[in-house]
Amino acid sequence: MQQKKPMDKHIKISDKLPLISIGETLLDLVIIGCGPAGLSLASEAAKLGLQVGLIGPDRPFTNNYGVWEDEFQDLGLEGCIDHVWKDTIVYLDSDEPIRIGRAYGRVDRQLLYEELLKRCVESGVTYLEAKVERIDEAVDGHRLVVCESGTVIPCRLVTVASGAASGKLLEYDVGGPRVSVQTAYGLEVEVENSPYDPDQMVFMDYRDYMKQKAKRVHEEYPSFLYAMPMSSTRVFFEETCLASKNAVPFDQLKKKLMARLDKMGIKIAKVHEEEWSYIPVGGSLPNTEQKTLAFGAAASMVHPATGYSVVRSLSEAPRFASVIAEILKTNSDSEYIAAQERSMVNFSSQAWKTLWPKERKRQRSFFLFGLELIVQLDIEGIRTFFQTFFGLPDWMWKGFLGSSLSSTDLLLFAIYMFVLAPNSMRKLLVRHLLSDPTGALMVKTYLS
Ligand SMILES: Cc1cc2nc3c(=O)[nH]c(=O)nc-3n(C[C@H](O)[C@H](O)[C@H](O)COP(=O)(O)OP(=O)(O)OC[C@H]3O[C@@H](n4cnc5c(N)ncnc54)[C@H](O)[C@@H]3O)c2cc1C
Repeated sequence: MQQKKPMDKHIKISDKLPLISIGETLLDLVIIGCGPAGLSLASEAAKLGLQVGLIGPDRPFTNNYGVWEDEFQDLGLEGCIDHVWKDTIVYLDSDEPIRIGRAYGRVDRQLLYEELLKRCVESGVTYLEAKVERIDEAVDGHRLVVCESGTVIPCRLVTVASGAASGKLLEYDVGGPRVSVQTAYGLEVEVENSPYDPDQMVFMDYRDYMKQKAKRVHEEYPSFLYAMPMSSTRVFFEETCLASKNAVPFDQLKKKLMARLDKMGIKIAKVHEEEWSYIPVGGSLPNTEQKTLAFGAAASMVHPATGYSVVRSLSEAPRFASVIAEILKTNSDSEYIAAQERSMVNFSSQAWKTLWPKERKRQRSFFLFGLELIVQLDIEGIRTFFQTFFGLPDWMWKGFLGSSLSSTDLLLFAIYMFVLAPNSMRKLLVRHLLSDPTGALMVKTYLS
């Protein structure tokens, strides 16, 4: 659905980047996928002198990305934000909002795409418009990227950045936590009357507008409204199910959104755009023993509790690229291959460790534990959970939302949550820790 969206203007990658010269040079690095992760890693790696080839369909960015303004400023990408809200608010069950005290921005997806593509042009990335079928290993030890068209691109190292559904090209750990999904249906509309202040972004509105009307659906799939009021009459509304075991059908989310807007007395005058959001969250990490590397959603970098990954990919691209460059430069091509063949050394493991060090794995195990708890809660449980969450010291819940808490901070966070939670939630937390496999996984990962 997202791919079929009408996009105003799309600058083609193939018009900007030279074609990979097939059969002439051996590329150092092939990156598969031209999303935010692939484009950012390609430019960072090429900047370091590597011969980088990018392979993937030539498509525009179609998703509406939201970011904390300061995070994009830190990346030097503030010019790619098209709207900033001075504050971000949350409603649980009362009309008194909780203020997050952090500015939120809507990414201008076209400008972000153009900026990342410009960086690829400037650093000398080459490109092939194709879908990759598989990755083979040549007898001389090089990697062979086999495209659906039959074209084969040899290279020294491959990084898969083809998004969440990359199981065809990568191996993932077996027996890990299962994948849940964040689903949302959105509409950018012109309305006659909006109750929301255009200076404030509504991160979550969990108030119960439906009352009895859509109660059954509401109980089955607790969801909230995410609202970006661009002006007093133009708003992007999104009915969002934070996480569920199975995807919530888009038509149900749409029905719920319409019922909610109707109850709120909001009349739609014109629809500018629709949005269908499907974000797999949780699941296993890629197998870090494999030679093929991964980045972005393909490397399980999507935050299990929020569904966000773009800022993490953009901010980790320079470091990941420098580790890849280090691996390829300190070992000349022949040494690299000979060493791998002789001693079975897998140089890729250095890069995997950069992406998934122990600390990151601990944080992730904590988020997976939280994710599995959330998918079990009904709407009342979710409200109680967030009442407790926003009752924590500010630095804690703000740090959690900003992904800046260390694994030790997260333990403190858990203790505080337990102390502040009502008895019903405490019981649930204990039961969850003792009986859910993510509880055992978290304990094991923290102790390793
Ligand atoms: C509607 C929507 C809204 C979202 N909003 C946010 C948000 O606000 N903030 C946030 O952080 N995240 C958000 N997400 C999640 C986020 O989009 C994704 O996690 C993010 O795009 C991942 O970036 P990526 O580059 O890793 O993968 P993708 O953006 O999925 O890009 C993967 C690329 O690989 C290509 N590809 C796939 N298979 C192959 C193949 N076999 N060969 C070659 N190429 C291939 C695809 O065509 C695509 O271009 C949203 C997702 C959706 C759907």
